[in-house]
Amino acid sequence: MTTLTLAQGDITRERADAIVNAANSSLLGGGGVDGAIHRRGGPEVLQECRRLRASRYGKGLATGQAVATTAGRLDARWVIHTVGPVFSATEDRSHLLASCHREALRVADTLGARTVAFPAISTGVYGWPLEDAARVAVEAVRAADTAVEEVRFVLFDARAHEVFAARVG
Ligand code: ADP
Repeated sequence: MTTLTLAQGDITRERADAIVNAANSSLLGGGGVDGAIHRRGGPEVLQECRRLRASRYGKGLATGQAVATTAGRLDARWVIHTVGPVFSATEDRSHLLASCHREALRVADTLGARTVAFPAISTGVYGWPLEDAARVAVEAVRAADTAVEEVRFVLFDARAHEVFAARVG
């Protein structure tokens, strides 16, 4: 049974077995959560991402997929990178957003991670409306078949926290 919890603030300050990164397919860093994770995690995280690009993920990580690296200096054992979909008003991409959560938890299971912290994937530069992203994220986690004991959504600001709280209950 997975317990859903909420926290407000900077995900790079969280302590968890794994911290999920809202990465982009290049795996080589970006803004938002991605930038913060690489800044605080330090060069080891980027080094491992580069190795992934040089080996199994030559074309990058596809949207909806997930892959783990070290967490470097973060207070976690692993970073699980996943690529959220860019929001589209004309095409329903919610299966890809759900897939990010499902795949991140699948990777967490292979690692033996029991606590996993997620940001609000796709709700930043990728433009997904917060209420809908919260619905998709919470439903995907609740439906996942995983040994992860705690999924913690870490929301950057008060509004995002309220929106997720309304879903998690
Ligand atoms: P995406 O490209 O998937 O939209 P972003 O990183 O731009 O990813 O934003 C995803 C969400 O993470 C946004 O709601 C943003 O406010 C939030 N966010 C940005 N920085 C942090 C952080 N350090 N910790 C937690 N959440 C963050």
